[in-house]
This record gives sequence, structure tokens and C-alpha cells, in this order.
Amino acid sequence: MKNNKLLKTALLSFAFCAVSAFPQKGYKAYVVSNAHFDTQWNWDVQTSINQYVRNTLDQNFFLIETYPDYVFNFEGGIKYKWMKEYYPEKFKKLKEYIHQGRWHVTGSSWDATDSNIPSPESFFRNILLGQEFYKKEFGVQPKDIFLPDCFGFGYTLPTIASHAGLIGFSTQKLQWRNKPFYGNAKIPFNIGLWKGLDGSEIMAVMDGQNYTRSWNNEDISNNKEIRNLAQNCINKTAFKYYGTGDRGGSPTIQSVMSVEKGIKGTGDIEIISAASDQMFKDYLPFKNHPELPTFDGELLMDVHGTGCYTSQAAMKRFNRRNEQLAVASEKASVVANYLTGAAYPSDEIDESWKRFVWHQFHDDLTGTSIPKAYTFSWNDELISQSCFADVLTSSVGRVANEMNTNTKGIPVIVYNPLSTIHKGIVRAEISLPKAPKDICVVAPNGEKVNAQLVTYKNGMADIAFCAEVAPIGYAVYDIRTSGSNAKSQLKVSTNTLENRIYKLTLNKTGDIVSLIDKRNNKELVESGKAFRLALFEKNESYEWPAWEIRKKTIDATPVSITDNVSISISENGPACASLCVKRQYGKSIFTQYIRMTDGAADDRY
Ligand SMILES: [Zn+2]
Repeated sequence: MKNNKLLKTALLSFAFCAVSAFPQKGYKAYVVSNAHFDTQWNWDVQTSINQYVRNTLDQNFFLIETYPDYVFNFEGGIKYKWMKEYYPEKFKKLKEYIHQGRWHVTGSSWDATDSNIPSPESFFRNILLGQEFYKKEFGVQPKDIFLPDCFGFGYTLPTIASHAGLIGFSTQKLQWRNKPFYGNAKIPFNIGLWKGLDGSEIMAVMDGQNYTRSWNNEDISNNKEIRNLAQNCINKTAFKYYGTGDRGGSPTIQSVMSVEKGIKGTGDIEIISAASDQMFKDYLPFKNHPELPTFDGELLMDVHGTGCYTSQAAMKRFNRRNEQLAVASEKASVVANYLTGAAYPSDEIDESWKRFVWHQFHDDLTGTSIPKAYTFSWNDELISQSCFADVLTSSVGRVANEMNTNTKGIPVIVYNPLSTIHKGIVRAEISLPKAPKDICVVAPNGEKVNAQLVTYKNGMADIAFCAEVAPIGYAVYDIRTSGSNAKSQLKVSTNTLENRIYKLTLNKTGDIVSLIDKRNNKELVESGKAFRLALFEKNESYEWPAWEIRKKTIDATPVSITDNVSISISENGPACASLCVKRQYGKSIFTQYIRMTDGAADDRY
């Protein structure tokens, strides 16, 4: 009987914990400290490490040691790694405070990533690399996506977060939208659930309010602003950032004293000095809180942030190249390990991911940092590319060594890193004593495929041919220097290009004035119109030029680029044919290649 009583008491206290999401006073507020830290922005990474990382440690140690209720929230695995590397003594102390629950590792990821440009795979890696580091170094695993400052949030975010074992997301950036989207509001609601594409749900704070909010040594259990916020939230419960930004550091002493006073205060607001994921945990399981509204859709910006998809184009290219190379090299290494016993190069792959993934930070990949910052970003991006390429080459080489390459001509092994069958043009450089008269390429099934010599220089022939390879597969193609080619339907003249599917015609200024889909005998260009290279000349965003493309800009009529146009045939063979269009605008020269193939995917690329 006594045991039963104990069990009942335990169940009752569990039930009490489960409803702790509800206020014990009239209102409740989770006040979430932070020191927003742009890893690079108006400064470079060296300044971040030399000054801002150290300041963040010192200032928060002082607050933790002075104010017993203070809890500090800080995100970004790469910054914790720098703490370990550059300030090892302070790092030991930091570990203690994390262990005591006074310093909360927040945000889960390797750095506060832009959530729109990276592929879902690299978003997952960002979280996994962060969580792995936090688990190993501190024995903790935070449960939230913490992005007070970021330029819009795509529909994949709740799905990715949920599949990574996370339960919540907070921001305040949506208040930077120029226009309301939901009646008079810029957000669907303040606190609720956000549903992803696959139906996964996480809890979301759509407006944690200004992350640099400070208070002046006051009892915030009586604070009017917090009460008004709570009044407009579900269960009269607010989630409110306070602190500083954007150079790390800490909240002000007066703010921390205000939180201390608020916790013991006489007002009608229950103040919680909170870890960033505490409220989300308090609401678990979400199904017990039907009062939470649900939003199902995108949370993108309307003006601020739209320029981030075009600023610093090289960063976007390098990032994407790394994403592709990383996955290709991992797959090749797994196959090499399985088939040949080659050691899986996990350290090299891991380091290369870490080196480029932190540049997905919301002022880095987005193109909104100072030029000096990009000297470091480009360096890291290129080192990672080089490392992934090395891993890929050596892993593919290990498998190639085991393959039967007994062909009549020169064997060329083609690797397809995709998870689907792929049909495409392969470019290969092969050593030949003299320029070949003909190039003939035979597929593994014995059939000839379209092939051509692109160039021959210094004993090296650059050849192009059509190949089709199974998912994560290898195939041996036989390159011969004599014999006829497969029959091709490619035709090219100085203003037309045609394969078995399309016929394209250019006008004198290099614009596409006709594109016929031969399968349906349908003209795809409206009469009198053209597909053309055009330019929006003005973008009147003087305060945020890297961030914004104004609507007025894209509503304007773009200017055609028609100066010094020259059109030439740059490729003419059975595998691929292309036209090269060069033109000038001011001091800029634009070079476009318009290419068709016979035998590659969809017979074009
Ligand atoms: Zn920021």
C-alpha cells in the first residue's frame, strides 16, 4: 500500500511537471539571454577569435559568478571549438558552467546557418556536427534551432529539425518583413507549432523580439511590455530575448539584475531565467497542448534578405561545389571500403565538412560580409574542395584498380556519384602520341555512343562522349582512335542549333527568338518576344545593398545587352554542339554558351 501511495505521489508530481507550461501567476515569461555573434560580418574571423570570443567568455563568467539566477545562452559549435583551441584555460571553466546549467549551449548546429541556400543534406550535417561536438565536449545535446538573426526560413526547416531530434525554433527576424502577410500581422502567430512538408512539427517562436533588449535594474515581474506580449500569446506566456549583438559579449549587468529582481518580484508575471529550449521542453508532448496554433508553410522574407540569393555569387558556387563533392567522396569511399578494404577517411571528410559548413553562416554564404571576410571564406571553401576532390580521386582509383579494363582501345572508367541512373556528357583527357583522325567510343554493352575530339594539345586529347551509368556505379568505356561514330542528329550553324528534340534560332544580337519543341511541333517563344540576357540597371537600396532587391527594381523594364555582339560556333560534333555569344555592357563582357547534346540526359544541358 505504501508503495502504491509513493507511486501515486510520483505520478502526481509528474503530472504537475507536465503542465508546468502554464503560468503559476497571471502571466509567464521565459526570458532568454543571448549575445548574438556574427561570426563574420563587418569584421573578419580573426577579429572574432581575438576579441569577441574572449569577451564573450570573460563577461559571462563575471555575470555567472555574480548573479546566481543568471543563465547564458550561446550558439555556434565553431565558436566553442575556437574557445577550446585559443583559450584552453577558460574552456575548462566553461565546461564547469555548462555542467552546472549556468551556461546553456543553444542552437544545436555547427554555426547559425542560413536556412535557405544550403542543401538539406548540409543543413543536417550542420546540426550533426554541432551535436556531436557538444556531446563529446560537454555531454549535452540542445533541442532547438536558434536563429534570432537570419534572412527567412524555408519550408524544409521544421522537417529537418524534427528528423534531427529537435523540438523547437525561435527567431525575431520576421518582424523585418516590409509588409504584413496575415491580416495586419507579419507573423501567423507568436508562439505555436510549425508543420513541415512531411507533417513533422516543431514548436516555434515567431517573434522573440529584439535580441538586444536591456532593462535598467528593475523588477520585470511588473514590466508592462512583457505583460502585453504575454497577453497576446497562448496561455499568457511570453518568450522574450534580451542581451546584446552582434559582436558577442553579454547582456548588461542592469539587465541581469532586472531578471534576478523579476524572479523574486511581486508583480503578476512569473519570470523564468530560461535556457533557449526550456519552453519547448515544458510543452512536451505537443499533442497535450491543442491550444497551440499550427502554421503550415514558408516563412521567407519579402524584401530584406532577397538580395542574399545573388550577392557574392562565388560563395554560392563554392558552397554548392563542396556539397556535391562531399557527398560524392563519401559514397566513393564507402564503396572503396566495401569492395577493396580501403580505410574510410573519416577524419579528412569530417574536417572538410567542418571547414566549409560554418561559412553557411547567415552573413557569410548570404554575401553580406565585408570583402576582407571573404578572403578567409574563399580560402576555406577551396581547401575543402581540394580535400574532398583528393578523397574522391583516391577512392575511385581504388575501385578502378580492381575493375576489368581489358578493352580494344583505351579504357576510361566513368563513376556516377548520384543515387539515380545518370545519362550525361563525359569529358576525359587521354594521352595520345598524335592527334587522332577519328574518335569512336564503345559502351560496356558493346554499342557505339556519340563522341568527339574537343582539342588536341601537347600529346593530350580532350574528348567528349555520351555515357549512361547506374546509381553510385562504375562503367568502363572503350576509347578508340579509329572507326565510325554513332549516328547523331545534332546540327549547328552560326545562328541555329538543333538536336532530336529542339531547334533553336538566334537573332543578330544573340537573343533566342525561336525554340521549337519538335516532339510536339510547338514554338516556345512568343512571336515578337525573345529569351534574352537583360539587366536591371538600378537597385535603390542604399542602406542594405547586399541584402535587398527592391520590388521597384524588378518591376522596371530590363535593358537588353546589345553592344559588340559576336556569335560563333564553339563545338560541332556528334556528342555536343554549341554556340558562343559574346556581348558588352559598359566595361563588362558577357560570354554565354548555348549547348545541345545527342545522347545525354534529355538530349541537352
Ligand atoms: Zn546576425
